[in-house]
Amino acid sequence: RTVIMWFRSDLRTADHLALGAAAQAAQQQGGKLLCLYVQNPADDRGPLQAAALSNALFELNQNLSGRLLVVAGDGPQMITRLAEKSRASEVYVSEDYTPAGGGELSDAAQSLTKVGAALLRCGDNYAVSPGSILTGAGTHYRVFTPFKKRWLAHPWQRPVRSRPEIALLAEPHRIALALGLKPSEILHPEAAPAQSPATVRVGEESARESWEQFLADRLLDYAEARDLLAEEGTSRLSGQLAHGTIHPRTLLADLADADEAPTGRDVYATELAWREFYADFLAAQPQSGWQDVNPIFPHYPWDEDPELFAAWREGRTGFPVVDAAMRQLAQTGWMHNRARMIVASFLTKDLHQPWQLGAEYFLSQLVDADFASNQHGWQWTAGTGTDASPYFRIFNPYTQSRKFDPSARYIHRWLPELRSLFPQDLFGDEGVPGSAGRQLKRIHYGLAEGGFQPSELPEGVYYPEPIVDHSEARAESLRRYRAR
Ligand code: FAD
Repeated sequence: RTVIMWFRSDLRTADHLALGAAAQAAQQQGGKLLCLYVQNPADDRGPLQAAALSNALFELNQNLSGRLLVVAGDGPQMITRLAEKSRASEVYVSEDYTPAGGGELSDAAQSLTKVGAALLRCGDNYAVSPGSILTGAGTHYRVFTPFKKRWLAHPWQRPVRSRPEIALLAEPHRIALALGLKPSEILHPEAAPAQSPATVRVGEESARESWEQFLADRLLDYAEARDLLAEEGTSRLSGQLAHGTIHPRTLLADLADADEAPTGRDVYATELAWREFYADFLAAQPQSGWQDVNPIFPHYPWDEDPELFAAWREGRTGFPVVDAAMRQLAQTGWMHNRARMIVASFLTKDLHQPWQLGAEYFLSQLVDADFASNQHGWQWTAGTGTDASPYFRIFNPYTQSRKFDPSARYIHRWLPELRSLFPQDLFGDEGVPGSAGRQLKRIHYGLAEGGFQPSELPEGVYYPEPIVDHSEARAESLRRYRAR
């Protein structure tokens, strides 16, 4: 008999509850374990996201000794078809708490029943499963700090051994033929090309290496370095966690042994708690994916200006730190956390565009795109979310640069055209000296136009003027807030 393991966003073999359970079931039934991944051609993925997924599948296949079958199709339909053809009565899968992912699992469960098979949801990608931590009144937490206290005290399972023996695994290509799959339905994931940015190297081995390097070199200074834009101060594991190539349980187990870096350890655990808090909140309130959590905001008068939005998206706002961050995202599929907050604040509070537009763009670009963390990260910055930064706290891009990129290494790295300018020229409220060229759009709210002459930028180098005046835009945000 065949037992099916349906991989989705859990692309690892270690510390994997569903895989361990599926292997055990196959063994007990004296059958084979068929490891499957279904890639839906209709899923919209940017090139870096597609490369990251392909790399993760490539590494997973290697860890399964070449016995992963990757097929193109709609998840629930394909799983049902293959379960029927292989006469499998059990399909194992990790739980998914997102509205779309949960919907897909429900569809699969329903259609599998019709062919006499069961979908068995086992484990997930969280140390503490969403829905496990409740207030005294039996409801889910709406703010982070009390949730974190309970989360830290909540027991989590020790990492489990789950990598199956090769002898147990069904040989995918023979099976594919037997199941009548067409060659066009069988995919062959490839490793990311050598020239790809490191962020795309998502996969079980890469995750383990990055994590060990982080523990050895960066955990000690993590609490301070994590905010510095130009430093490699964070773990860069978000893409791995989003694809499930490493489990947070594994990270917490290693952190528990990191006695030499108590502060780094605590701050890192807190960051993981944010990820789990947002997943927990979204599971309890699925509508919070696109709707404001904070009920005083439904009628906030956002503008919708495609030209301003395009300038933000393409990194041509004339605010160096914002443009640098947007280029980092476009070129690597990842952005520093502080930069995410700066650009999100800029889009919502300087350009007055709805946070949903920015969130949608991030989801289409980030290799770590995670629906719960992204939507709630946006809501936090926009002032509409859980624990939202109060609406009147508006990031000043220049102050943020001075504090978190004092030598302008981050700006210089992503905006090479500004490398000849000293940091102080990049942090001034007047914009970059000499910024000129096509003026995108200057928006004024009742104050006089104050143009400036091109000067310091070398001749022939183009950099746009600031598209808004930060103080005016800030004042406008506050005015709208008070008038809401
Ligand atoms: P580290 O500092 O090494 O943190 C370790 C891990 O903790 C991260 O990998 C992540 O899983 C978790 N974490 C850290 N900070 C946060 C946070 N603020 N919220 C939730 N989890 C956190 N994170 C995503 O994983 N996917 C997203 O789509 C995403 N979108 C965001 C959008 C906005 C507007 C903002 C402000 C934040 C967003 N974040 C998102 C959170 C955070 O920016 C990233 O997790 C972090 O930058 C990833 O880099 P790292 O792995 O080096 O982080």
